[in-house]
Amino acid sequence: MECRLCGHPRTHKHGKAPNGSQRYFCPHCQQTFNERFDTMYYHRQVTADQIRQVLQAHSEGSSLRGVSRTSGLAYNTVVSIVRTASQQAQLVHNAEVRAVQTEEVSADELWSFVQKNKSNVFPVN
Ligand SMILES: [Zn+2]
Repeated sequence: MECRLCGHPRTHKHGKAPNGSQRYFCPHCQQTFNERFDTMYYHRQVTADQIRQVLQAHSEGSSLRGVSRTSGLAYNTVVSIVRTASQQAQLVHNAEVRAVQTEEVSADELWSFVQKNKSNVFPVN
């Protein structure tokens, strides 16, 4: 396997992580990493199914505390999973969504951009 840290083409197997995933050692940069490196599961004691469940419930509008209750995961774990997924999604978006041809733009998020709330909106008319 190629080294995830320095790109060196040859690494050795180097035991297993406590969660059972294979660890690797790179003779070039002398560091270890595991096969989950750079994924959402790295350093987390949760399964892919649990992450799927958390993200599904969150995208359907469940509150983070509600997701924590139904999944049995700690509130902070749920927050961390949602935050990581959103960062990953932003990276994918930034890399893939480019030069979109458009004639109209819907600006329905603009109010939150200018921090609209009751106290700083003045009646027009
Ligand atoms: Zn390396």
